[in-house]
Amino acid sequence: MRTPIIAGNWKMNLTLSQALELVNGIQYGLPFPGEVDVIAAPPFLCLHGVAGHLQESYIGVAAQDLFFEDQGAFTGECSGKQIRDAGADYVIVGHSERRQYFSETDEIINKKIKAAFRNELVPIVCVGETLAEREKGEVAAVIRRQLAVGLSDLTAAEVARLIIAYEPVWAIGTGKTATPDQVEDVHRLIRFSISTKFSGQTGEAVRILYGGSVKPSNSKELLALPNVDGALVGGASLKAPDFIEIIKSVR
Ligand code: PEP
Repeated sequence: MRTPIIAGNWKMNLTLSQALELVNGIQYGLPFPGEVDVIAAPPFLCLHGVAGHLQESYIGVAAQDLFFEDQGAFTGECSGKQIRDAGADYVIVGHSERRQYFSETDEIINKKIKAAFRNELVPIVCVGETLAEREKGEVAAVIRRQLAVGLSDLTAAEVARLIIAYEPVWAIGTGKTATPDQVEDVHRLIRFSISTKFSGQTGEAVRILYGGSVKPSNSKELLALPNVDGALVGGASLKAPDFIEIIKSVR
């Protein structure tokens, strides 16, 4: 039985006081979330403050990125070791905005996933095709490549613990959501690829989230799909009432 996850990616939004107001709003509005893991991913500068504030809460904390070395002369970067020390349990790796604006490759993402595990952080690994790739009929090839390179040299036990987020690039922040059929097709492909490469048990255990313009009006339908184990939510995670509605739609 896979516990569903609703994760909010706040991106480069919110000051610390706004972030604390948001998590307070979520907790007061929804004191008992039920059988679901709720995660918030604040920007780096809020990580320590938010994680400290949420110590006794059901909301787990993720960083939005990490560097693949643990320390050293890498100006401007944050390591897994520092993120763990700041109180996070998870880290988003390979978000399409990092791939697009910061030239992250599957090889870099693989190193970051290993750095996350080395530092006892659970990676939330993002995969997904661009619109051009979908239009050329390359969805399966892109997803297979991202998984093959991104997860290379990991153990089956590590892959069973990590979280995959399928985020079609054309659906992120655009208001365009993938149809339930498109989502289920790719999630099934991800589970199948992992089962084939690692083991059937690993494929059954890995949690696969959908991300891309998830909002209260579409979350129920998407979260009801058999291979969808939750959502990675951007814009709608910045408003407590919307995020709460999405969490509730897991039921
Ligand atoms: C995201 O950034 O991971 C995301 C899915 O954003 P949005 O929900 O705004 O499309």
